[in-house]
Formats: sequence, C-alpha cells, structure tokens
Amino acid sequence: MPAEKFDVIVVGAGPAGNSCAYTLAKRGLKVLQIERGEYPGSKNVQGAIMYANMLEKIIPDFRDDAPLERHLIEQRLWYMDDSSYTGVHYRSDDFNEEAPNRYTIIRAQFDKWFSKKVQEAGALLILETTVTDLCFSGGKVIGVKTDRAGGTILADVVVMAEGVNGVLGTKAGLRPRPKPDTVALAVKEMHFLPSDVIESRFNISGDEGVVIEAAGTITRGMAGTGFLYTNKESISIGIGCLVSDFAHTGLAPYELLEAFKKHPAVAPLIAGAEVKEYAAHLIPEGGYNAVPQLFGDGWLIVGDAGQFVNAVHREGSNLAMTTGRIAAEAIFQIKSRKDKFSAENLSLYQKMLESSFVMKDLKKYKRLPDFMHGARDRLFGSYPELVSKAAQNWFRVDGKDKKSKEKEIVRSFVKARGVRGLASDAWKLARSWR
Ligand SMILES: Cc1cc2nc3c(=O)[nH]c(=O)nc-3n(C[C@H](O)[C@H](O)[C@H](O)COP(=O)(O)OP(=O)(O)OC[C@H]3O[C@@H](n4cnc5c(N)ncnc54)[C@H](O)[C@@H]3O)c2cc1C
Repeated sequence: MPAEKFDVIVVGAGPAGNSCAYTLAKRGLKVLQIERGEYPGSKNVQGAIMYANMLEKIIPDFRDDAPLERHLIEQRLWYMDDSSYTGVHYRSDDFNEEAPNRYTIIRAQFDKWFSKKVQEAGALLILETTVTDLCFSGGKVIGVKTDRAGGTILADVVVMAEGVNGVLGTKAGLRPRPKPDTVALAVKEMHFLPSDVIESRFNISGDEGVVIEAAGTITRGMAGTGFLYTNKESISIGIGCLVSDFAHTGLAPYELLEAFKKHPAVAPLIAGAEVKEYAAHLIPEGGYNAVPQLFGDGWLIVGDAGQFVNAVHREGSNLAMTTGRIAAEAIFQIKSRKDKFSAENLSLYQKMLESSFVMKDLKKYKRLPDFMHGARDRLFGSYPELVSKAAQNWFRVDGKDKKSKEKEIVRSFVKARGVRGLASDAWKLARSWR
C-alpha cells in the first residue's frame, strides 16, 4: 500500500468514481483510486444505456475509442398485461446524428475503458482491494484503511463512489443503510443473437438500436419495471422491483424474469438466443427524499451511494458521472484557493449539485416514489388490465357502435376503482409529476 499522502482518495471505479478521479487527475491533483473488483466493471451491473452528454463533459472525444454498442433511434414504452401491451413508440432518423445522444454499452468493457483513461490522466489505481474503514482525526476524515497490509493511507479528501451496496459510509455513520422501500432489486440476462437477426427483429440497421421500457402486470402488483435493450450481438433483458415488495410477496426476481421472457410480445424478440450472463444488483430508487448527507469534514459521497438515480427516466450512470465530475470540480476549486477541506467548504459540492439537472430532476419527482408504492396494486395490477381491455374493445370491429364502446370503457374503469378513486389517483399522479 502506498505510504505517501494523496490529495484525494476515490473509493470505487464505477462511472461516479471514474468521472471524479479522471477530472481530478486531469487537473493535476494526486489521486488514488481503490477498487475491490478484479478489474473495473467486474462487479458492476447496468442495463445499459449510456448518456453521451454527461460523458462528453468529462471526455469530449470519447466516441473515438469508447466501447459503444448501438446508438438509440427508437424508444418503446409498454404498459403490459399478461397477453398484451399498450404502447407509445418514438423513432426518429434525427437520432442518426453525427454525435448520437444515447448508446447501449456493456459495463465490463466500458468501465475498463474509462479506467484506462483515468490512469492515463495520472491517477493511481489499486485493484482487488476493499476499503474497509474511513480513518478519522478529530471528527475529520483523513484517509482510509483497506483489507491489505500497510495501515492507513492518508488524503485531504475521501470521495465515496462505492455504489448502492457500499457499506463504508454506513459503517462510519455518515450515511444511513438504504431502506428496503428505497432500493430495487433487478435481475438481468444477456441473450446472444447474430447482429443481422437483431436488426431484422427490431427493424434497424448498422449501429442503430432500440430500447423497450415496460411496466404493468409483469411485476405482479409490485412497484417495478422491465427493460429490453439491443446491443450489437446481444439483447439485455431485465426486470426489478422494490426490495420491500419482494419481501412482502415472497416472489423471487428470477420468476418475474422468466415470465417476462415468455410474454407473447417479448418471446419472439429473444427466440433462439443463447443466454450467457445472469446478474443481479440493487438500484437506489428512493429519489430526492432518500438522498443522504453528501459532504462533511474531509469526505464527499457521489453516484449510487448518494441515491442519485432518476427511476422514472431510468437514468443512473449519467447522474453518477455528473455527481463525480461536480465533486471533482468542487474539490479543485477549494484546493486552488488553498482552503481547508472542511464541511463548510465542501458544501460547495451540494450548492453546485442544486443548480444542476441532477437535483432539479430528483426534486421534480420527489413525491413519485411514494405515489408509485401506494398505488402499486393498481399501477402494476388492475390498470394495465383495464387499459388493455379498453384498447381491445376500441380496436375490435364487432358491429357495436362507437358511443356504446366509449360508455363501456368508462364504466369498466369506474366499476374497478370508483369515480373518487380514479380522480384521486389522477390527482396524485399529476402532483407527483410536477
Ligand atoms: C439492472 C440495472 C440496469 C440499469 N440500467 C441503467 C441504464 O440503462 N442506464 C443508466 O444510466 N443506469 C442504469 N442503471 C444504474 C447504474 O448502473 C448506476 O446508477 C451506476 O452504475 C452507478 O455508478 P456508481 O459509480 O455510483 O456505482 P457502481 O457502478 O456500483 O460502482 C461502485 C464501485 O465501487 C466498488 N466498491 C464498492 N465498495 C468498495 C470498497 N469498500 N472498496 C473498494 N471498492 C468498492 C464496486 O466494486 C464498484 O466497482 C442500472 C442498474 C441496474 C442494477
């Protein structure tokens, strides 16, 4: 273990840690990054969609050599019951732009590439090493201890980019253990198919890609969603629900995934594929109200460890990269002023976050997790069935006049939930969406 003191120690080499370490090292700070995995990305799970804008702010020319799968030209949103889906699809040739906006990636490859950039920028990376404790002096974090021999490694600031599963901040009493109703457990498989099969099934060509986000009875009345993303020669398919809901129902995540794969709208898309990978991981989904204290004397929290995920838009890696970059910029400003890394000075990080899209988006949806959870039996149970029946009634040409069909549809919703119940759900949804 290095005996010298560092400006900054970054714990974790996911998107948050890599963005932070890269930005700091590029500006000449002495950075040590510690990752418990065998290589960066070996422990990480993501769908995975990567958002270019946030990476461009860190590595503007990333498209030159980053391992990117497909750029996305089509988004499908499906509200599913057991045999149907009602959907909204958006596809545009405008997304075939020179610098595309969203890509699918494979995290094991992407994190390795990002980490190489971090090391080229000058940061020192130590792998297969777990940070076991933060070290304090007079209430201030002054370094870390690891599971390797060599004692304490000292630094002016420690950045915890340890992800949602990280226990370091919790162990030190700096952040609460995430509650079961603020984290989702997601499972994901990679289904391999030749690229031309994927292209013909999804009506795409070249590097074009499609995203399907799904909700409904696929989660059996639990708050959660499913997804299906096209990579070059594979399809990522997954599903996740709040841990508290799994505990309550006793259902297992893989049961949901098996049923999702067999759904008549999904099965033909993955038919004949070879499954090579299965992974499970937590996603912080508590939103704004679950964000812990983010700074203190000598420490900052970035990425999933700070609950920075926008579950509505399925954005996490971009919030991780942005919080990592902003933390680095705050540290750099304080260092340039030759100021102390006190809690007061490090509160600059929080101020910078407040004026970024990260906090603005989390604030916008701050009521949504409670609404989704409270209305989960309807949102992920009765409503998708009612919507599907209504669509089927409307589209079936059976000699019944349209006015009667309209009345039947309205009646079916009122019968299921009552006028007051429907009005209450609509009002709560609108309020959560503001
Ligand atoms: C199934 C699934 C699908 C997802 N899909 C998407 C998507 O499509 N788009 C999107 O933007 N986001 C998605 N996300 C969310 C996204 O993966 C996360 O938001 C993102 O990975 C957070 O990055 P991070 O760097 O904060 O944490 P992580 O990526 O979890 O990285 C944390 C790192 O810290 C290391 N570490 C932890 N503790 C220690 C320790 N004590 N010592 C040393 N190292 C340590 C870990 O090994 C890990 O490498 C998805 C998540 C899941 C689970």
